[in-house]
Amino acid sequence: MPKVHNFSAGPGILPQEAIDNSIAALQNFAGTNLSLIEVSHRGKEFEAVLDEAVATVKELFNVPEGYSVLFLQGGASMQFCMIPYNLLDEGQTAAYVNTGVWAKKAIKEAKLFGNVNVIASSEDQNFNYIPKGWSVPSDAAYLHITSNNTIYGTQYQELPSANIPVICDMSSDIFSRPVDVSKFDMIYAGAQKNMGPAGVTLVIVKDSILGKVKRAIPSMLDYRIHIEGGSMYNTPPVFPIYVSLQTLKWVKSNGGVVAMQKRNQEKADLLYGEIDRNPLFKGTAATEDRSVMNVTFVLNDDSLNDEFMALAKQRNLSGLKGHRSVGGFRASIYNALSIESVQALVDAMQEFERMKSGAQA
Ligand SMILES: *Cc1c(COP(=O)(O)O)cnc(C)c1O
Repeated sequence: MPKVHNFSAGPGILPQEAIDNSIAALQNFAGTNLSLIEVSHRGKEFEAVLDEAVATVKELFNVPEGYSVLFLQGGASMQFCMIPYNLLDEGQTAAYVNTGVWAKKAIKEAKLFGNVNVIASSEDQNFNYIPKGWSVPSDAAYLHITSNNTIYGTQYQELPSANIPVICDMSSDIFSRPVDVSKFDMIYAGAQKNMGPAGVTLVIVKDSILGKVKRAIPSMLDYRIHIEGGSMYNTPPVFPIYVSLQTLKWVKSNGGVVAMQKRNQEKADLLYGEIDRNPLFKGTAATEDRSVMNVTFVLNDDSLNDEFMALAKQRNLSGLKGHRSVGGFRASIYNALSIESVQALVDAMQEFERMKSGAQA
């Protein structure tokens, strides 16, 4: 089978090693001669998997004392509702920065529980930049931001901090670079972009922010219940957690988040370099806010879109279609994608340039 270069935005590419190890565990889990998905999550073999997953998250991100690491279900979208449910009392106000579709969905849920103050937005330009120069009201219950905007290809180059609890949706750039966890009160990420398969969501939460709202919280939506249960209040998603652990171990054995950042920057520089050089293409995100995870670009002449997509297909470049709200193309270049795959895309863009100049001559 030919190698397919996987630029899918999500679920996205995972390390081959993580997939191979997961296939092996489906056949024979930890020497039990049983499949990972047909044994008790309370057996010592799976307990060891969960413990190692928590420990590896803590190690990769240098998580300080006083924080809990949880593996939950319901996707990042469930966090949009769990966060205000647990942290925003009726009558209180939470501050949100609106940087796109995902931020908007988070805002929509928070409004069910309290007041929302959208302190900054880039909606005026279809979210093609990260708003700057905003200030955080000191009486807000928390600040919510989205570190990387998967659809628009924008990313905070430097993550903001505040004197109130800061909560960050890192679904599409978790473990792509070092993060000072102590500056956040909660970090969360649906696994399926840069950490694992769909079906599990990572939550890193500072214990001391919990238990302050007056309302009753259903058990499954209460962070404290999941902390008490060690992510096993109910049956956890054993397979997504296992695959995530294999991916986390791959990150660790490949130099951790510092090395990931270096690799990701090299890949991004290569691709943005070609986008800026090649007269047929242009980037859609503001240059200073360009994401190193999702690279969005268009053809200056969009009547050529189908033709470029056909060339991409012929060269086994998969998942390049842009999100419908931006159009054009999006190359998601997550941790597991190799620089060779980025080079293959750059080669196709250069070939397309030759084809087009040949056609004009
Ligand atoms: C994909 C995505 C989500 C939604 O994740 P689900 O796990 O599908 O709920 C939320 N935030 C960001 C930044 C995303 O990229």
